[in-house]
Amino acid sequence: MSHNAGWAARDLAVVWHPCTQMKDHERELPLVPIARARGAWLEDFDGRRYLDAISSWWTCLLGHADPRLDAALRNQLGTLEHVMLAGFTHAPVIELSEALVARAPAGLSRCFYADSGSAAVEIALKMSFHWWRNQGRAGKTRFIALAGGYHGETLGALSVGDLGLYKSSYAPLMLEQLTAPSPDAYAAAPGESARDCALRAANALEQLLEQHADEVCALILEPRVQCAAGMRMHDPEYLRLARALCDRFGVHLIADEIAVGFGRTGTLFACEQAGICPDFLLLGKGLTGGYLPLSVLLTTDTMYQAFYDDYTTLRGFLHSHSYTGNPLACRVALATLTALDADATLARNRERAQALWTAVADLQAHPHVGDVRQAGMIVAVELARDGRGRTPYDWRERRGLIAYRHALVRGVLLRPLGNVLYLMPPYCVTPDEIALLGRVLGECVELATRAAA
Ligand code: PMP
Repeated sequence: MSHNAGWAARDLAVVWHPCTQMKDHERELPLVPIARARGAWLEDFDGRRYLDAISSWWTCLLGHADPRLDAALRNQLGTLEHVMLAGFTHAPVIELSEALVARAPAGLSRCFYADSGSAAVEIALKMSFHWWRNQGRAGKTRFIALAGGYHGETLGALSVGDLGLYKSSYAPLMLEQLTAPSPDAYAAAPGESARDCALRAANALEQLLEQHADEVCALILEPRVQCAAGMRMHDPEYLRLARALCDRFGVHLIADEIAVGFGRTGTLFACEQAGICPDFLLLGKGLTGGYLPLSVLLTTDTMYQAFYDDYTTLRGFLHSHSYTGNPLACRVALATLTALDADATLARNRERAQALWTAVADLQAHPHVGDVRQAGMIVAVELARDGRGRTPYDWRERRGLIAYRHALVRGVLLRPLGNVLYLMPPYCVTPDEIALLGRVLGECVELATRAAA
C-alpha cells in the first residue's frame, strides 16, 4: 500500500470531513493526505505535488511555510502561547490591533477578536442588535442580507447567508432575515452594464429599507465579490450607494471581508474601492497568512461608546471565546501584515493579476463558458450549457467535480463552486505557475463541458 493509501484508510476510519458527503470518498472524491507544503505547493505522502490554486480555502495568503511567518511563530513559542483576554492582555494583541487600526478605513478604531470567520459574523450581528438596544431601539431585530451571500455556518451566520445548499436543511432553526437582490454583474440583462446592475440592486435595497428600516439592525454584505456564491462580482458603486442608504435609514453596514480582505481584490480592503467605511469590518482567513485560526471585527468609537458604562447598567458586550486574541495567532498575523508591506504586495499583485487574466482570457470564446471575470487576485470561469446564454448546468451533473478530479491528476488543487471554476492562488505564485494554472483550467473546462450529462 502507498503511504497515501495508508493515511487515507486511517483517516476514513475516524475523521468526519467538513463540507463533504463522506460517501463521495468511496469513489467520486479521492482523499488526498498532505505531508508538507511550501510556497504555492502541497505535497502528499507519496511525493506528488499539487499547486494550491485556491490558497487552501482562501486562507494561505503569501504561500505555505513562509520563513518569516514560521520565524514569528517560533519566536512567540516558549514566551507566551496563550492567556485569556478577559482581564489580561499581551503584546501581540496590542501590536496587531494598532497595526490593523492603522491600515483599516479611517473611523475604525476598535478590534474585537474571535477564532473563525463565522464567530466574527456572530459578534457583528449581536453587537449591532445590542447597540440599537442600548439606544432604546429594541424593536430592531432583523438583518438585511444579499441574495447569494455567504457568511459562515454557525446558526446566526447561516441565517444571513443565502446559499440553499448549506442552509435549507436547517430552515426551521434560522433567524428571519430580509433578502435584498444582489448587485451581481453576471445577472445583467442584455445591454446592462455592471454599474447598471449596481444601481438596480441599490434601488431595490432602498425600497426594502423604506418598508423595514424600523426593524432592521444592519445590512451585511461581502464587498466586491460574493465568493461562495461562485465568485460573483459587483461594481463598487453598489457599496457607495448601500453605505449612503444605511446612513439615511439608520441601519449599520457590516462589511464581511473575511474572504476578500488583505489585497485579494486589488486594494488592501475591498471597501477602499468604494471609498467607504463600514460600521463593522470583519476579517479572518488570510489574517494569519493561513497559519492559525483568528478573526477580528473592527468597529467605530461610536459603537464602542454605546457599550461603555457602569457594570450594573448591563450595557456591556459580554461575548467571549476561549481563544479570543490568542498570542500565537496574533504574532503570525502581525508578521503577515509586515510581509505584505515588505513585499510591496499590492503593487506586485497587479502584475500577477494581469498574468492571471492572460492565462484565462481565451476561455471567453469557449462555447460553454458564460463568463470569465476578475477582481484582482481572483479569476473565475463560469460554465454554462449555452455559453453566453448563461443557462447553468444542472447541479446534479456535478461538472465541477470532473474539473476537480482532472486538476488533481495534473497536480493542481482546484475546488470549483458548482459550475464556477476559479483561481485564487497564494501571492507567491510565479508567472510559470500561473501559466500552468491557465493550461490546466482550460483542460478542465474542456473536459467538464464535453462530458455527457
Ligand atoms: N464570510 C465569508 C465571506 C466567507 O467566505 C467565510 C468562509 N468561507 C466565512 C464568512 C466563514 O468563515 P469561517 O469558515 O472561518 O467560519
